Amino acid sequence: MLKDKVVIVTGGANGMGEAHCRLLAERGAAVVVADVNPRGENVAADIVRRGGVARFRSLDVRDRRQWQVIVEATESEFGRIDGLVNNAGVLIRQPAHELSVESWDLLFDINVKGTFLGSQAVLPAMKKAARGSIVNISSISGFVANMPGMSAYCATKGAIRLFTKGLAVDYAEYNIRVNSLHPGTIRTPMTADFESDADKLNMLLGTTILRRLGEPREIAEVLAFLLSDASSFMTGSEVTADGGFTAV
Ligand code: NAD
Repeated sequence: MLKDKVVIVTGGANGMGEAHCRLLAERGAAVVVADVNPRGENVAADIVRRGGVARFRSLDVRDRRQWQVIVEATESEFGRIDGLVNNAGVLIRQPAHELSVESWDLLFDINVKGTFLGSQAVLPAMKKAARGSIVNISSISGFVANMPGMSAYCATKGAIRLFTKGLAVDYAEYNIRVNSLHPGTIRTPMTADFESDADKLNMLLGTTILRRLGEPREIAEVLAFLLSDASSFMTGSEVTADGGFTAV
């Protein structure tokens, strides 16, 4: 389904990003695991050990120059870039009256500016090839404020949701598809503290009609579809995988 596609996944060292890299490689993609966390080296090495194609590249998504380096390295090694997954993200939960300007800026720099810089960096290669699929990882928090203290995080995820549609409009003529993926609450390091707090967990699961957290691989399956040609008529779409959280 993804045979020989070349895909860059940001935040690939951990959590959902790691699951994305592993599943995409299993489906035949060559995967660039891009992360500030050197753990990505182990993820890439393990994929290769299992017979897949993967490279780790150190990347801070906020740094335009680092994006240029990674895109050049990927093009020179693989000859093209078919997919980009803007997955790297951070969560800071605090009510607005307590949130520092530094925290606001950090959220927007990584979640939103990182998505912009990544897209900007790969678009020339995708335009040249007249094909590409970009998937921006938003969240159910791009639709609703699913917990207290989420206002700034929700603002970043809402921004990603509409940035995606704008890109879809601008690059459709080049056969570049851009979609946003909106996971519900998924079991990753980002949500580890939710599981140890019964009140938080009950609040989240109470409105998740499947009554459980999602697993990273369940999101990776949806991502694989969006990157593949099977989703060829989808662009500017918001794809939700949230155990029914936003259905009620
Ligand atoms: P995670 O914390 O487990 O992993 C995030 C990864 O991003 C880490 O490997 C981290 O090193 C990397 N990263 C952080 N800042 C970076 C930067 N500046 N440059 C490059 N890499 C950076 O998080 P996760 O739960 O796997 O979340 C992945 C994405 O999914 C995020 O965008 C998150 O907002 C979103 N999301 C998560 C959930 C959830 O319930 N876990 C739900 C909806 C959306």
